[in-house]
Amino acid sequence: MNIELVNTGSELLLGRVLNTHQQWICRQLSDHGYTVNRQVAIGDGSQDIRNAVREALERADLVITTGGLGPTCDDVTRERIAELLQRKLLHIPEVEEAIRRYFESRGRTPPAKTRVESFVPEGADWLKNQFGTAPGLVISVDPNTFRASGERSLLVMLPGPPRELRPMFRDQVLPLLAREFPRTDGFVCRTLKTTGLGESLMEERLEAPLKPLVEGGMELGFCARMGEVDVRFVAIGPRAESIVAEAERLTLESAGEFVFGSGDDQLESVLVQEMSARCQTLALAESCTGGHIANRITNVPGASAVLLAGLVTYHNDAKIQLLGVLPATLAAHGAVSEPVAREMAEGARRVTGADFALAVTGVAGPGGGSKEKPVGTVFLALSSIEGTIVLKQLNAFERETFKHLTTQQALAMLRRAVLETSPALA
Ligand code: ATP
Ligand code: MG
Repeated sequence: MNIELVNTGSELLLGRVLNTHQQWICRQLSDHGYTVNRQVAIGDGSQDIRNAVREALERADLVITTGGLGPTCDDVTRERIAELLQRKLLHIPEVEEAIRRYFESRGRTPPAKTRVESFVPEGADWLKNQFGTAPGLVISVDPNTFRASGERSLLVMLPGPPRELRPMFRDQVLPLLAREFPRTDGFVCRTLKTTGLGESLMEERLEAPLKPLVEGGMELGFCARMGEVDVRFVAIGPRAESIVAEAERLTLESAGEFVFGSGDDQLESVLVQEMSARCQTLALAESCTGGHIANRITNVPGASAVLLAGLVTYHNDAKIQLLGVLPATLAAHGAVSEPVAREMAEGARRVTGADFALAVTGVAGPGGGSKEKPVGTVFLALSSIEGTIVLKQLNAFERETFKHLTTQQALAMLRRAVLETSPALA
C-alpha cells in the first residue's frame, strides 16, 4: 500500500512552525501497520497545493493532506482540491449547523467567514471536528482519474491545528483506514524505553540474545535521544505478536535494569507512579538545573502525592540558609563538590521530612570551569533512610542540554533507589 502525506502551510516553509503533523501522523500510521512512502510540505500558493496533490494521487492509494481548511484567505486547500477533481463545492446545512453549535457552546455567534467551511466537494464525506469548526473531508477518487495503474485512491483532508487534527485522526481516520485498507499480514511495532546506557552499548548487549529473531526477519532499531535510547521491534506475519513479545522478554532479561517503560512512557511519569504506589515522598535541592527536575516531576498529573518541595538554591547563601550547608564545607571544597552535594541532599531531606531528597550542583558553563572541575562537571546526590550516595558526571554540553541530561541522570538515580524498596513495605 502506497501512502503519501502533503502538509500545507507557508509557515512550515518559512520555519515559523515545526511540522509536527509529519512526525505525529507517520508515527500513528506506523503504530497501526501502515508506512508512509513520501511526504512533502507545500506553501499556501494555490498551484503548489494543486500540483502536489495531483502528483500524490498519481501514485498513492491513500493521500492525506493537512492544513488550509480554515476560513482565511490563505486557507485554499478545499478550493484547490475541488478544482483539481472538478467537483463543485456544495453547501451542507448539517455542517453549518455543527459550526453554529460549536460557537454557541462558547457563547458566540459564528463570524460570517466561517460559512465557507460548510462547503464540501461534491461526493465527499466529512469528518466531525470536535475541537474546532472546519470538518475533515474524505474523497474517494475514481479509478483512472490520475493513476496509470487505474486503481482508485482515497484522499483525506485534515485541518491544521494539532488539537483538532489529532482527535479527528485517532477517532475517525484510523477506523476508516481499518475498514478501507485492512491489514491482513499481521504487523506489530513496539518500543521499550531505556535510560542509563548509550545506544552502541545497548546494541552490544542485545545483539547476541536477539540475533535469532533478527535473522528470522524481525527489525530491531535504536533511537537515541538525550539521555535515553528507544529500542524498537517490528515484526510482520502471523507470528508477529509472539516474536515481538519474545524480543521484549529477552531485552528485559539482558538489559532490564535500564528499561523504564514502553511506548510513549516518560521517565518522570513512571517515577511518580512508582513512588506514589509506594507512598514515598520527594524533595529537591537544585542548583545548576534551575528547577528543571521539579518542572519535569510537576508535569506529571498526580505529582502532588510525591513532591513535597523543590528548592532552587543557586547562591551559596541560599544553600547555607535554606539547606543548612556548612560555610566551612563550601569554603573547603567549593559549591560544585561531592561534600556540598551531599549536604544539600541531606539538608533538603531534613527540612522537608521527605523519604528521598535529590540534589544537584554543577558547572553548566560556558564560564566557570577549572582544570579539576571542567565545564560540565556535576555532582548528583540522593539521600534516603539508607544513607546518601553521590554520583559525579561530566555533561559537557551547552546549558540547555546540560540541564536536560543532568535531570535525566538524577531521575534515573532516584528510580534505581526507589526500585530497591519494596512496594509492600510502604
Ligand atoms: P484554521 O481554521 O485554524 O485556519 P486550517 O485547517 O486552515 O485551520 P492552517 O491555517 O493551515 O489550518 O493551520 C492552522 C495552525 O495549525 C497553524 O497556524 C499552525 O500553528 C498549526 N499547524 C498547521 N500545520 C501544521 C503542521 N504541519 N505541524 C504543526 N502545526 C501545524
Ligand atoms: Mg488556516
